[in-house]
Amino acid sequence: MQTINSLSALRAATRAIKAADKSLALVPTMGALHAGHLELVEEAKRRADAVAVSIFVNPTQFGPNEDLDAYPRMLEEDSAKLRAAGVDLLWAPSVSEVYPEGFATKIHVAGPSSGYCGGARPGHFEGVALVVTKLFNQVEPDLACFGEKDFQQLAVIRQFVRDLDINVEIVGVPIVRDSDGLALSSRNAYLSAQERAAALALPQALQKARDAILAGGQIDRILASATDDVLAAGFSNVDYFALADAQTLQPVTALNGRPTRLLAAAKIGKTRLIDNLAVE
Ligand code: AMP
Repeated sequence: MQTINSLSALRAATRAIKAADKSLALVPTMGALHAGHLELVEEAKRRADAVAVSIFVNPTQFGPNEDLDAYPRMLEEDSAKLRAAGVDLLWAPSVSEVYPEGFATKIHVAGPSSGYCGGARPGHFEGVALVVTKLFNQVEPDLACFGEKDFQQLAVIRQFVRDLDINVEIVGVPIVRDSDGLALSSRNAYLSAQERAAALALPQALQKARDAILAGGQIDRILASATDDVLAAGFSNVDYFALADAQTLQPVTALNGRPTRLLAAAKIGKTRLIDNLAVE
């Protein structure tokens, strides 16, 4: 595995892959890698001849009072995991390589960016759209794998890739969960043992809500009761617990035959967790 920190070296490496007529997949990450990220790598390996993983804790997607400084950084351990997984290229640029002095461009994606995490984290999806567009222009992959764990992020990425005619196939990968059902997340490392146990209420509330919706219950009432369950389990705040159209992310008040998704974000202690579940 080649570890690359400069754009010029990256261009040389991707040129060599293309010259060998190999397809290239990109897996963008912020590091602190777990089995969820490694599943994206496996999917990338199944779909392309060569796999690049980026590790970049992107400052533009963090709000002023969020965990940018505290976000776990462990490049050596991550690098060992990626080497063992058979990754060809690790792209780990510095902040100044990605956002040099004088950087002035923003990308705003309307539609699927609004509401949910877009409402709770103003500017977050602008930062995501910006960094993903830059990563695509830097690595020039044929395809890129993203987790359904960040379901709204995936919808936003599909939207701007379509809108801007970006020639990268977007592949969504199902959520990888711990054996007890909690979605794997780099932020789970922040949880105390007690919080980790209580956090299970989030996936449990999603499952209970899905079952109740499929049984024909009233959606508003089900979502309110799921919110109550999550708060009763020890979460301090529920940013949203919603049912949305799986493509447009517009709120759904009655099942209409289109794929829908339960989306939730809630805070336990200092940690904000997100999760989602298909209702079908
Ligand atoms: P992150 O490093 O948290 O920004 O995530 C990088 C990529 O890994 C994103 O596409 C996430 O959706 C994906 N990802 C994170 N956690 C999981 C998980 N538990 N299952 C599947 N994909 C995940």
